[in-house]
Amino acid sequence: MSAVLHAAPENARQADPADPRHRTRCAECGVPFAPAPGQAAQLFCSTPHRIAFHNRMAKRGKAYLPVAMAARITRDGFRRDKATGARARLECQRMIQNWIEEDRAANRMAPDAYMAFCYRHGLRER
Ligand SMILES: [Zn+2]
Repeated sequence: MSAVLHAAPENARQADPADPRHRTRCAECGVPFAPAPGQAAQLFCSTPHRIAFHNRMAKRGKAYLPVAMAARITRDGFRRDKATGARARLECQRMIQNWIEEDRAANRMAPDAYMAFCYRHGLRER
């Protein structure tokens, strides 16, 4: 079921398992694909998967940011409004754990692997 839901779309470049250049796995679906020529930093097998990944990250960021900031400014409930800070800390942990489990179930790239890829390819520098 999951494999069908997350299978690469029809327009995804097909990978040749014998070709070492085709070992890139899509960050969204986990399916190996061949990056476009000259695109070593390509993370997604297709445009729909790139859009789905970034839309989900934006949605998660919007939910997470105010809670994480409340946790941080209260030092996880040790300063200022302690009850709110403690609650925010727990909510942050719960959100992250739920998203990790959701991503594992969907065969998405793990967050540490995603960040390693971004750092390796200079995608976090502004
Ligand atoms: Zn994909």
